Amino acid sequence: MTTETQTFQAEVRKLLDILIHSLYTDREIFLRELISNASDALHRLKFEMLTNPEVRDPDIELAIRIDGDPDNLRLTISDSGIGMTRDELAMHLGTIAHSGAEAFMRSLDNRQAADQIGQFGVGFYSVFMVAEEVRVTSLSYRPDAQAWTWISRGEDSYWLEPGERSERGTTIEIKLKEEAREFAERSRLIGIIHQHSDFVSFPIYVNSDAANRQTALWRQSASELSDEAANEFYKQLTFDPQSPLLHVRVNTDAPVQIYALLYIPSHQDYGLFGTRQDFGLKLYSHKIRIQTHNKELLPNYLRFVEGVVDSDDIKLNVSRETVQSDPAMRRIKKVLGGRVFDALEKLAKEDAERYATFWAAFGVFIKEGLASEFDDRERLLTLLRFYSSRSGEKLASLSDYVSRMAAKQRAIYYIVGDDLETIKRSPHLDYFRKEGLEVLYLVDALDGFLPSALREYEGFQLQNVDDAGLDLPGSKGEKEGEEEGESPSDERIRPLIDRVKAQLGDRVVDVHSTNLLVEHPARLVSPAGSFGSEMDRVRRLLDQDYETPRKTLELNPGHPLVTGLAELAQTEGHNELVAAAIEQLFDNCLLSEGLHPNPATMVDRIQVLMEAALGKA
Ligand code: ADP
Repeated sequence: MTTETQTFQAEVRKLLDILIHSLYTDREIFLRELISNASDALHRLKFEMLTNPEVRDPDIELAIRIDGDPDNLRLTISDSGIGMTRDELAMHLGTIAHSGAEAFMRSLDNRQAADQIGQFGVGFYSVFMVAEEVRVTSLSYRPDAQAWTWISRGEDSYWLEPGERSERGTTIEIKLKEEAREFAERSRLIGIIHQHSDFVSFPIYVNSDAANRQTALWRQSASELSDEAANEFYKQLTFDPQSPLLHVRVNTDAPVQIYALLYIPSHQDYGLFGTRQDFGLKLYSHKIRIQTHNKELLPNYLRFVEGVVDSDDIKLNVSRETVQSDPAMRRIKKVLGGRVFDALEKLAKEDAERYATFWAAFGVFIKEGLASEFDDRERLLTLLRFYSSRSGEKLASLSDYVSRMAAKQRAIYYIVGDDLETIKRSPHLDYFRKEGLEVLYLVDALDGFLPSALREYEGFQLQNVDDAGLDLPGSKGEKEGEEEGESPSDERIRPLIDRVKAQLGDRVVDVHSTNLLVEHPARLVSPAGSFGSEMDRVRRLLDQDYETPRKTLELNPGHPLVTGLAELAQTEGHNELVAAAIEQLFDNCLLSEGLHPNPATMVDRIQVLMEAALGKA
């Protein structure tokens, strides 16, 4: 007999090393991974049989059989699924699929790696947490295929040799480590199956007894479906250990027949961007799984939704590739999207706290939707939430904002900043606080895009509080007057303004006084016609050679720092101190805008100013 020795891909060797040496406590998940692979192989076989009459052993039962023998430390998991050829064994059990490998390498330093193996698509290898030796014998569904055996002890190489197997499918024979004997015990196996694999849709036999529930939960009526069962199903479907935030059950006959069970997870970090291997819904028709990650059944920005969709209106004689052109798909998508919105709106109305959890985890997707999907705009707007100057610890919706607006208010005001703490100290809020006008806080990294995606809500324009041409209730007359002539207070600080202008030169567009400041001595406003500070922020995020944007510096003629500086500027002998104070005033403004390119440059100057304050300069 010819036995070939093959070396594992480097990533696999690394993974095996971690799995074998980790002190991971949840070792039982290896069984979930192997059952999930077996179930997958059965689903793929069933799908193949739709169009291919030439499948080996078409009449054998589609099932998973598990046999444990604790006395001999043996565990066997067998399925009558699609099987693997010699080359498939070498490819699938010798390498990690590219995407999985990359994500895995990225998280290698992460102690949780073992916890996430299932989500990397490296599930099979988890068997080495409990196995001393593994033999996989497989016979492919292809009529001309030969049986092959793959053998490994979790070391750097594995062996391939012709195998003995007369029926289609795959058998995994495990020689357990001494300390993993429990995994050959019948009661332990049944317990694990109940917890992790109860809803697998093929029978699982443990030492010949059926062990799983096998229910197509999504086909149950609303009264039959308990929250507990729905949550259990979610966990087994996604491998997310936490319960979902909510589930959405869809059961319609018109305009299209659908059974669906959709979920909004309660958090993102079970894998959306990092380790969740792929997004999409499981799609069934006539009880046959057609796709594992269908991406066409919901708008792309709702890709955080998990679940199963089952519709007998989808034709079965379609290939995986042509499912998306099936006319039923568009109708199903419309219904599902609508139901997800309904559920989120209901949650927002009935349970603000849980909605806040949703918002914290997935708000960014709703914003993405606003920027990308014009047709869904109205519904997405109702889902938006913000912190604001009047919302306190809670979140405000746009309709909350509009209902609280002052009688003469003509715009919705917002401020952009890196975080809530910085925003709350912003000089731009002085006026709004004094007048009791609400300001929305935009703090997410990509919120810079939001104002241009939103533009207006119920006829009210969105305006950045740092905009030079703000439309303020009641202040129109004053503002126009200010532009035309100078107020007396302006006259008093005229020499200071000239001095600041001369000193800052090109670094500012202009310098003038303002009556919109109360507690703060100065602020920077975006000159009319510029992109505004939200886009500055986006540019700074995207561009490494970012240049500090030029703004207009406004001084508060009523602030003691400004009047004091104006006086000092007119007295002889304080040139250096005045110059340092002006620089620092400007730097302070840049800092509070989050625009300062290099705060460390301020240290020497602050020292000079401190010495002056102590009377030493
Ligand atoms: P994943 O299942 O996430 O792709 P695994 O490492 O668990 O990752 O499995 C790798 C591949 O090996 C599977 O995608 C599948 O093609 C193949 N495979 C594993 N177990 C079986 C099985 N019981 N029957 C047929 N193919 C299998």
